[in-house]
Amino acid sequence: MSTRPPVTAYIGLGANLGQAAQTLRWAVAQMAQWPGVQVQAVSDLYRTAPFEAQGPDFVNAVAALHTPQTAPDLLQNLLALELQAGRERPYRNAPRTLDLDLLLYGHASISSPHLTVPHPRMHERAFVLVPLAQIAPALVTPDALRDVKNQAVSKLESWG
Ligand code: ADP
Ligand code: MG
Repeated sequence: MSTRPPVTAYIGLGANLGQAAQTLRWAVAQMAQWPGVQVQAVSDLYRTAPFEAQGPDFVNAVAALHTPQTAPDLLQNLLALELQAGRERPYRNAPRTLDLDLLLYGHASISSPHLTVPHPRMHERAFVLVPLAQIAPALVTPDALRDVKNQAVSKLESWG
């Protein structure tokens, strides 16, 4: 039997409907139960104003996973978790109970109709870069952080 070497993947989590912080904690607990997956790190929870989106403030975080899943399988599992959390897509950028984005998958560059990695908008978003910099400072340059510092992101609660 062949086993794939695990890859480090970074997941962006966000929610602005329902018990957002609780939903993010639930989502990470679910990921930790996927076969062969280890949750390596989770950022604190941040409160962010909606950016190109509607509704109440968001709660955001970033998690690092060590995973044997392929990138498409990982995306499918993330989308399934969104559905379990009651995610609906009535219109683009609608408020959401849970949004899970695959930010980075090792060093892979992927461009398919359903999956683009690195996530194409991650560098425009303070709500991704600030928590990502907390758990993986080498992946976020000071210049990148400076470019998004007009977006309001504040720490809501510690992860652990
Ligand atoms: P957004 O997160 O941009 O608000 P959605 O969560 O509604 O949008 O995602 C729409 C689609 O984006 C997903 O069904 C998925 O197929 C696609 N997608 C492409 N690349 C990614 C990625 N890196 N992470 C998550 N979804 C992605
Ligand atoms: Mg998404």
